[in-house]
Amino acid sequence: MAYLGNPTRTLAVINTYDFAFKKKFGQNFLIDSNILENIIAAAEITKDDFVLEIGPGIGTMTQYLCENAREVVAVEIDKMLIPILDDTLSEYDNVSVVNQDILKMDIKALAEEKNGGKPIKVVANLPYYITTPIIMGLFESNVPIESITIMVQKEVADRMQVGPGTKDYGALSLAVAYYANAKIMLEVPPTCFMPKPNVGSAVIKLTRHKEPVVDVTDDKMMFRLIRAAFNQRRKTLVNAIKNSPEIDFSKEQVLEALEQMGKSETVRGETFTLEEFATLSNLLCAMK
Ligand code: SAM
Repeated sequence: MAYLGNPTRTLAVINTYDFAFKKKFGQNFLIDSNILENIIAAAEITKDDFVLEIGPGIGTMTQYLCENAREVVAVEIDKMLIPILDDTLSEYDNVSVVNQDILKMDIKALAEEKNGGKPIKVVANLPYYITTPIIMGLFESNVPIESITIMVQKEVADRMQVGPGTKDYGALSLAVAYYANAKIMLEVPPTCFMPKPNVGSAVIKLTRHKEPVVDVTDDKMMFRLIRAAFNQRRKTLVNAIKNSPEIDFSKEQVLEALEQMGKSETVRGETFTLEEFATLSNLLCAMK
C-alpha cells in the first residue's frame, strides 16, 4: 500500500533517517494523498505502462506509480535518499532506483531497454530549476515519449500554454506547442508540500503530437530563429536575427522572406505564431 502521502508519515521517515532537505536539489516533498491520486489519474497510468519518474525524493509518488504501472524506473540525484528509497519501496518488485543526474542520463537507451523502444510515460515532481532543460532535453533528443506529466511552478505552466500577445509567451511556449499538446491538469498550493515552497505549483500534462503540427524543413533552424527572437524580444525580428551568433542569413534575405509573408520590416518575433516561425524558416532555408 502507498502510505507516504501525508505529513505524519513523511516526517517519520525524515526523522528516522535524520534527513536534511537540500535547497540546491529543489527538495519539496508531496504530503497530500489527494494530489498524488490526481497526478496518477492525470497521467493515465495503467498496468501496461513503463514509467520514468524523475526525482522520487523519499518515494512518495513512486509508491503510487508502483501500484499502478507495470514497471517504474526512478532517477534520483541525491545519494542520501537512496537508503531511504530502499526502505520505502521495499515492498515493490517492479521498481528500480538509479542514483544519477537525469540530465546526464541516456533516456533513449533506457526506453529501448525497458520498453522495447515504444513511447514511455514520464511523471515527475520536478525541481523547478531544471524544468526547462529536462523538458527540452526529452523532446529534442528524440526520446520516444508518449506523455510527460509534471509538477512545475504555476507561472512556468502558464508559459507552456500561452500564445502570442501575452507576456508569458516565449521560446518554451513554442517548443511545447511544436512537440506536444499542453494541458494544466491541477493547481497545487504550497501547503501540499514539505517544506512549503514560496510559489504556487501546477501539474501540466504534455502529450506528444503523433503527427507534426507544422510543416518545417529544418526544425533546428526554426528553433534558432525562435531563440534569436526571444533572446532580444524588444528588438525587431530582423535585428534580433542579425544579432544572433547562430544564424548567418543577411538582413536582405530576412527582409525578403518577411515581405513574402506579408509582414512589416518592423515586426517583432514575439507576435509570430509557431506556423509563422515555420514559414519564415522554410523561406530562409530555400534561399541557401
Ligand atoms: N517526487 C518527490 C515528491 O513528490 O515528494 C520529490 C520531489 S522534489 C520537488 C524533487 C526531487 O528531485 C528531489 O528528490 C531531488 O533530490 C531530485 N532531483 C533534483 N535534481 C535532480 C536531477 N538533476 N536528477 C535527478 N533528480 C533530481
